[in-house]
Amino acid sequence: MSNRDEFSQKTKDALRLRASNFCSFRGCERTTSGPSDESPDAVNMTGKAAHIHAAAPRGRRYLVAMTPEERTDISNGIWLCAHHADLIDRDEVTYTADLLRAMKREHELHCDRRHRDALRAGEASADLIAIGPDIVFNGEFLGADRSQWRFHLQDFVDGDLHDLLMFVECFERAPAIDRYVLINSFGDGRVLSTAPSVSKERIGGYTLTCPVYPSAERISAAELPTDFALSEDHDLMPTEDGGIAEVAGADALPQTIKRCLSSQKGESPFHKDFGTRFAEYFRLLAGSPWFEQILKLEVIRQAAIPCIDPLDNRQYTPFLCVERVYGIELLADVPSGNWLPIRLDLEVKGLGRWQRELSICVPKEAVKRTSLDELMAGPLHPIQS
Ligand SMILES: [Zn+2]
Repeated sequence: MSNRDEFSQKTKDALRLRASNFCSFRGCERTTSGPSDESPDAVNMTGKAAHIHAAAPRGRRYLVAMTPEERTDISNGIWLCAHHADLIDRDEVTYTADLLRAMKREHELHCDRRHRDALRAGEASADLIAIGPDIVFNGEFLGADRSQWRFHLQDFVDGDLHDLLMFVECFERAPAIDRYVLINSFGDGRVLSTAPSVSKERIGGYTLTCPVYPSAERISAAELPTDFALSEDHDLMPTEDGGIAEVAGADALPQTIKRCLSSQKGESPFHKDFGTRFAEYFRLLAGSPWFEQILKLEVIRQAAIPCIDPLDNRQYTPFLCVERVYGIELLADVPSGNWLPIRLDLEVKGLGRWQRELSICVPKEAVKRTSLDELMAGPLHPIQS
């Protein structure tokens, strides 16, 4: 077994994204990946997620005191071109951990500024589109009818062409909950009815045709079921006669939303599909130009894509009555005591446009727990010593 503490694929992808696909080395600015012209599913990859403190003993800048978790954390990585990844591993006197961290910070700030300027000047496409949980791309909506949505795919933000083609090929075997398309600018999404088709355009880029089911059923806010009321400090509220206060209908909307957004996907052993990936995104993408847009896609998923209750097979969208997501805004950079204030701007069935500030729970520690069913259903691995 290797004794190297390697980054996970998710961490590598996030490092690449945060660096906007450019080498982070001061003054380099080489682009580190792009679609290959040789074959439709090949991608030129010249970038590397390099370790600041080495992944294994005797590597450069290795720190004995670090735990494997710290060594594989995104904070210990820097995205570089192949040339500069080699260079920093030949010379640790010049390329100290402090210098590398400074370069990384500068480059990420530069990417963030450039992205915001481009958006303001209308040069960058503001539209992010998600296909399933692992693919997000910059693209343009080309048209729709009741049964299909079509897009022009410009470049990948998360995943790559290989992942997209795998998604198409393995569509029938993918969990039902992962078969969806979300569009940031619409604030809406659909369940895919069959696999999307991908075709290469002569002028560059790809056209993606997504067969979709009609919009998921929503209930009116007035029909929201009875729920326990929650106080300002997120606790149950006793009533004067010794019971617990309840709310229903439109009054139950804030906490329906709060509960969904505060649950981390995979956290509940009884309903592993329920919840969001906010904690994961926070750990990997906070401070990058895509962060709020990727969070918005995740909110759209809660509004538009049904999950399936494992107990009674009932299908429902987690927000139940939200028809469209106009926006999510973070009102603080970091959670305070795990609570993060946000502002939501939504279209709610029966209420119309609904804007509200609320706090959601985003645990600072990365949430990664194996659910009970995964443990019980998973294959047995021989224990390696
Ligand atoms: Zn470079």
